[in-house]
Amino acid sequence: MSDLIPTGIQLTYLLAASLFILGLKKLGSPATARNGNVMAAVGMLLAVVVTLLDQQVLNYQMILLGLAIGSAIGAIAAYKVEMTQMPQMVGLLNGLGGSASALVAVAEFWRLLGASQSVPLDASISMLLDVLIGGVTFTGSAIAFAKLQGIMSGSPITFPLQQPINALLLGSYLVGGAFLLIDPTNLPIFLGVVGVSLVLGVMFVIPIGGGDMPVVISLLNSFSGLAAAAAGFVVMNNMLIIAGALVGASGLILTEIMCKAMNRSLFSVLFSAFGTGAGAVAGAAGAGGATDKVVHSIDPEEGAMMLGYARSVVIVPGYGMAVAQAQHSVRELADQLEKLSVDVKYAIHPVAGRMPGHMNVLLAEANVPYEQLHDMDDINPQLEQTDVALVIGANDVVNPSARTDDKSPIYGMPILEVDKAKHTIVIKRGMSVGFAGVDNDLFYKDKTTMLFGSAKDMVAKLVSEVKQL
Ligand code: NDP
Repeated sequence: MSDLIPTGIQLTYLLAASLFILGLKKLGSPATARNGNVMAAVGMLLAVVVTLLDQQVLNYQMILLGLAIGSAIGAIAAYKVEMTQMPQMVGLLNGLGGSASALVAVAEFWRLLGASQSVPLDASISMLLDVLIGGVTFTGSAIAFAKLQGIMSGSPITFPLQQPINALLLGSYLVGGAFLLIDPTNLPIFLGVVGVSLVLGVMFVIPIGGGDMPVVISLLNSFSGLAAAAAGFVVMNNMLIIAGALVGASGLILTEIMCKAMNRSLFSVLFSAFGTGAGAVAGAAGAGGATDKVVHSIDPEEGAMMLGYARSVVIVPGYGMAVAQAQHSVRELADQLEKLSVDVKYAIHPVAGRMPGHMNVLLAEANVPYEQLHDMDDINPQLEQTDVALVIGANDVVNPSARTDDKSPIYGMPILEVDKAKHTIVIKRGMSVGFAGVDNDLFYKDKTTMLFGSAKDMVAKLVSEVKQL
């Protein structure tokens, strides 16, 4: 009987791990993402309950109190936080995950300090890794949150001798770590290693511009998983190791997808002040200098005529749609066009907006049918036959210079090729550049007409005009 309990626990862990993996798989498509989320959450609930029953928990009251406070904060945040604030919310959650993992190592160190028993080498290495990754994740995420929330400047912070200072910090962590492997219960050195890890997190994120924070947050998400896996080794818990490894791997894959879609290396994201520094200034100057080029602007009535009499319309949402919260009006416009027998599709660029899946989430919130959403590789070959491409608050993701101008900072970035459509309407407020800070030739093409105004107002006007057709 006594053997059955640990076996049952490990089997439950196996079931939970399987649910995590199936849940992750389902998260790959908007149609199954909600189910995937529920599946993974059930897996986590099973894992938590079984762990609480398995371990000799001394005080269930404290756990219940923590659960109640945490759930209340989580529920309020889920209701209150705007969709455009999601990156900083995720950043905050990563930071908490990292700090929790690091605290596991600190608690284990304290236990060993009082237990006066010898510490195996593998346990010391796990603790050191946990403190480093968890500490960097905690303070790095805190800085990322502060930059995105506007609590501190989003500009890259650089200063003389920054890299040598970073190298010195890393070196002192390694030396401190080596000392701890010889004398694992040396309190001052342990505290020093914790402090250096926390400082390294700050130093890692301050030189990165606010615009690149979503990529950094995705990377820190991966770190928080690795920290949890390290914590799993510290307390020898298989579930924590598996869950942490899954988060670590999926965060890394997401980071790579984001970098690829922006045509940038992770190195350039982490070590060049893109979008906020020199690149942005140069791009803005370019936009200002483009006054000799002619743009054709129309009013909503003309726009509605073009859309209403088209056979096919492809809607391209971008960051501007997100800030204007125009997704519900966009859905209404598509409904009205469909009533006129127009074939409506949405083209989704992987890095449109400011976080991965940004457009999918917003359009799902407006109940846009999943089958109308098409990713870049799927829609690009269809754009040549499309009557009207309607670009709503997107800029970089439709910039043809990514294909044609090898001097452009976004050269090589895969784009939605709306310039190939028979006609393009662009809704934006003015001629401002997008995130990458570069001018967009699409706006000056003969086949392009601009509908100037905020996305929400303009789409609402289009809806009322289309209704009158
Ligand atoms: P962009 O940032 O290129 O352009 C957005 C455009 O929206 C601006 O030119 C702006 O022009 C317009 N806009 C702003 N507010 C409004 C409004 N209220 N109504 C109408 N238009 C508005 O957005 P994209 O989505 O095309 O591209 C995303 C960019 O962000 C890419 O460069 C990508 O690499 C980057 N990025 C994306 C991440 C992600 O995970 N999705 C992460 C990090 C970076 P105007 O002011 O004239 O209206």
